[in-house]
Amino acid sequence: MSEEKKSLNFLEQIIEEDLANGLPQNKLRFRFPPEPNGYLHIGHAASICLNFGLGKRYNAPVNLRFDDTNPAKEEQAYVDAIKKDIAWLGFKWDKELYSSDYFDNLYQWAIMMINKGLAYVDDQDSETIAQQKGTPTEPGTNSPFRDRSVEENLSLFKQMKEGVFKDGERVLRAKIDMAHPNMHMRDPIMYRILHKAHQRTGTEWKIYPMYDWTHGESDYLEQISHSICTLEFKPHRPLYDWFVDQVYTDGIKPKQREFARRNLSYTVMSKRKLLRLVQENYVNGWDDPRMPTISGLRRRGYTPESIVNFSETAGISKRENITDVALLEFSAREHLNKIAPRRMAVLNPIKLIIDNYPEGQVEYLSAENNPEDESAGYRELPFSKVLYIERDDFKESANRKYFRLTLDKEVRLKNAYIIKGQSVVKDADGNFLEIHATYDPLSKSGSGTEESKRKVKGTLHWVSAKHAIPAEIRIYDRLFLDEAPDGQKDKDFTEFINPDSLHIDNKAKLEPSLTDAKPGEQFQFTRLGYFVVDPDTSPEKLVFNRTVSLRDNWKK
Ligand code: ATP
Ligand code: MG
Repeated sequence: MSEEKKSLNFLEQIIEEDLANGLPQNKLRFRFPPEPNGYLHIGHAASICLNFGLGKRYNAPVNLRFDDTNPAKEEQAYVDAIKKDIAWLGFKWDKELYSSDYFDNLYQWAIMMINKGLAYVDDQDSETIAQQKGTPTEPGTNSPFRDRSVEENLSLFKQMKEGVFKDGERVLRAKIDMAHPNMHMRDPIMYRILHKAHQRTGTEWKIYPMYDWTHGESDYLEQISHSICTLEFKPHRPLYDWFVDQVYTDGIKPKQREFARRNLSYTVMSKRKLLRLVQENYVNGWDDPRMPTISGLRRRGYTPESIVNFSETAGISKRENITDVALLEFSAREHLNKIAPRRMAVLNPIKLIIDNYPEGQVEYLSAENNPEDESAGYRELPFSKVLYIERDDFKESANRKYFRLTLDKEVRLKNAYIIKGQSVVKDADGNFLEIHATYDPLSKSGSGTEESKRKVKGTLHWVSAKHAIPAEIRIYDRLFLDEAPDGQKDKDFTEFINPDSLHIDNKAKLEPSLTDAKPGEQFQFTRLGYFVVDPDTSPEKLVFNRTVSLRDNWKK
């Protein structure tokens, strides 16, 4: 669809309205605010595509802001991985910023709030504070420390900052209304004590600001016009506005708006859960090709285009929903079909001997690299007397609906000749050892003869045994057996893990043009699917991951 014809999503409508009401277009500014406590996942891609997409549409800057207010969970390694993933997806941020850049500013504003009688130090522990919160239908109760003098609050808050108290001994709270119908407005916590070194500010701070206090103020400092977040923050919106109102002097007053999180079938998405998959060794790291992380999808062979296209097709919504993972797989196929060179690979090989083909002869057959892309050109495939085909592509006899090789029937070897099954050699247990066939020398593909145009049912992929190279092929299945492993009653999501999500095949034989394939290179293996070279590849061993099969073969 062209940009013009696409209908506006509800967030774009909000922006259009703001522009119509006088907001100058050059004041539009967005941000993507990841917490560096894990790797980005396909859900984050929705938010990235949304924010950077708005940036593109309105020619407005988009900041990358790391929301780094919890040193207990955050790491520089996550910052680096997040930057790499966003850049790989093809987006350029305007400024790279950190909530921790604003710690001084936030502290000064907190002092101002204390001075105005709008914040106080509470000596109670978190449990007591939670008990006093009330319920949505019952008002909360005031803390006994709520009416401390400004002087006492200033002195205690300073001591909190200087590290006089232990973790959890004091908090700074906003003084709003303990009977407010919105629970988030009942004297929310602004600061907590945490004696933990921060990856950027070191040991300078012994107190760290809470999300609600930090986020809107950071948006205001950066002059973000539209601060887009996920639905769970909708009830926080009055608090977001209240906090911004306390410090607002001039300029843009940022507007928080919400959309539904992206959920994907057959996986979990929260970083906390993904971290458990890594820590409890259900997968081999954050970039395991079964993970819904951007790095996992990249290693699996997904292209940035397919992820962006998926995000745009799935769109954004106002209500919680689950997107079918089949749509993501479809996006990968659609893009890879256009760009992936075709190659032949036999995963479960059995020898096929062409009895009437001259011993020792080798022919180089021309094969199109990509029928979807003329510019991709041709390659040469060696053909000889002894070949490999898939074990599954042969049966001694079969009914008329079987379009693969049987005795006395013809099939075409792709880019090569028509062959006819003649006999099969078996071991004492009846297992097939090798197949014998004859070929029609006049039937060579593309040779222009009558025989070459002869239609036979069934075309098989193959490789020449003498020229084939070995490889390890990793075939993946879904990591979870249940469509919605998350949030099921009395069951941990790990109970739904598919025990057979990885199948490693070491018997594979590939056409020799793949010898120099490099990590990250993508191919379509004829009839088998799309594959990518894995970084585990070494000079001794090629390793491929299957990205997706050619067709959706998932059986429910
Ligand atoms: P998680 O629970 O996975 O840790 P989060 O919301 O805590 O998610 P952040 O790093 O804080 O993760 O998120 C950065 C931005 O990405 C936020 O604006 C957040 O709303 C958005 N985001 C996170 N998960 C999703 C998702 N599943 N779908 C859409 N947006 C998301
Ligand atoms: Mg978070």
